Amino acid sequence: MRDRDINVFKKDCAKQSIKGSDKGSYIIVGFLARCMSIEVGSLGSINFQKGYYVYVGSAMNSLSKRVKRHLAKVKKAHWHIDYLTPHLTKMKPILITIPEKLECRISRAISVIADGKVANFGSSDCRCASHLYFFETDPFQNTNFLEIIDSYNASYGKIEGFL
Ligand SMILES: [Zn+2]
Repeated sequence: MRDRDINVFKKDCAKQSIKGSDKGSYIIVGFLARCMSIEVGSLGSINFQKGYYVYVGSAMNSLSKRVKRHLAKVKKAHWHIDYLTPHLTKMKPILITIPEKLECRISRAISVIADGKVANFGSSDCRCASHLYFFETDPFQNTNFLEIIDSYNASYGKIEGFL
């Protein structure tokens, strides 16, 4: 089922990918070095386990600016993810510059392979159960995760240049 989905995504990418476009979806991967309870705006206090967190979002304007903001440690909390990022280390952004709202599709694909999810996190504006996933081990060492991001022609190696 998942393999077939990936093939569909590959076709879409070839058709719709526009190089250099500053809009699309992004994934932020980060590591939480110890278990902690964090107050997340309207969701209240959440117990986060030690491990890797993968957040999926999109920005139809200024994608690079949005991702830069997520990587900043000091900012005014606006989105759910803003409460978590100050505690994360080893943060890595992944950019998917396909100018179509794919974040929920990407989120669903990741939900299948993740070790857990944080209920209702980042998904107030859609029907997804969450946009934040938990991985016990580094997702960049997980072939299923790499297959998903590769299927979107995501850039993560050359991220410095883009930002
Ligand atoms: Zn969604």
